[in-house]
Amino acid sequence: MAGAFGSLAGPQIIHAQQSGAELHVMPVRGNVFMIVGGGSNVTVSAGVDGMFLVDAGSSAMANKLLDKIAEIGAMVSGAAPPTTCVGPSCYPAGSLGSFVPFGWTSPSYNAVVASPKAGKPIRWIVQTSPDSDHTGGTPILAAAGTTYNGGEAGRLLGQRTPAEIIAHENVLKRLTMSKAPELAWPTETYYIPSHKMSQHINGEGIQLFNTPAAITDADTIVQFRFSDVISAGDLFTPGRYPAINLAQGGTVAGLLAGLNKVIELAFPEYRHQGGTMIVGGHGRLGDTADVAIYRNMVEVVRDRIRDMKKRGLSLQQVREAKPTLDFDGIYGSPDAFIAAVYQTLQ
Ligand SMILES: [Zn+2]
Repeated sequence: MAGAFGSLAGPQIIHAQQSGAELHVMPVRGNVFMIVGGGSNVTVSAGVDGMFLVDAGSSAMANKLLDKIAEIGAMVSGAAPPTTCVGPSCYPAGSLGSFVPFGWTSPSYNAVVASPKAGKPIRWIVQTSPDSDHTGGTPILAAAGTTYNGGEAGRLLGQRTPAEIIAHENVLKRLTMSKAPELAWPTETYYIPSHKMSQHINGEGIQLFNTPAAITDADTIVQFRFSDVISAGDLFTPGRYPAINLAQGGTVAGLLAGLNKVIELAFPEYRHQGGTMIVGGHGRLGDTADVAIYRNMVEVVRDRIRDMKKRGLSLQQVREAKPTLDFDGIYGSPDAFIAAVYQTLQ
């Protein structure tokens, strides 16, 4: 994706991450957006049902995130443009000449995604990980959001509580153990391999998948089925080695299984960049090939270290043998990654 999105997701964003100052909104596809520049990425689905977030950033970026989420809310508000095309395969407006004057989406879908007015509240926050880079902003974002209680009557009576916070149950376990503020804890947890949101949200089905013992023992990937976007959390961090967290139950085998799960869910474009868009926990937007390249790197490094460990090399000797040397130019310092792979190899 470096080419197609180079101008948007390249040097500009790296600069913002370094300064820690500015957040940017990047439209991903359909009504799914990515907020970048704060260190960790936040995925936002915006529409008539309200804001559905994947991750909440760090506490330091929470107020800036709120501003950006409001910006996205304003972007998707307003009347639906008239279209005559039905279904997701319609072409961009004008791309086929003036005789096809509609966008890629259907009139009914437009009516669903275009909210009648700005200011739809944050209603759902999914936590892909217990890491404070991803959960630290939760108390502020959830408090600014809304869960409607007591059905329509409750809504009319203004019975509101903060936004729903959804995560794998191990996030709750990890956050309580690490004494994270109670307002950052998930309010809804799941423990089965996957969890479907119980309603269409902003015109699409959203499904959560747990990838056991990958970066932590609490990771979730989120699939937006109609927009064809996957939010992969820290499983996929193009530009840096995976931060497998041994203390929180991460393993290299689980990471590989998780990356393969993302690839299984994603569809590539034919000999092109494109297809399913994949938002990683940090860094630029990717597609299926980007995840496959990342997965291959993890697998190659795993094989090398496994071979060295079989031959009886200590962790220090493995480090000195530089098993990641040909990847270090892309992914940076490998020390923690080498140690995590070495220690979690079966
Ligand atoms: Zn992260």
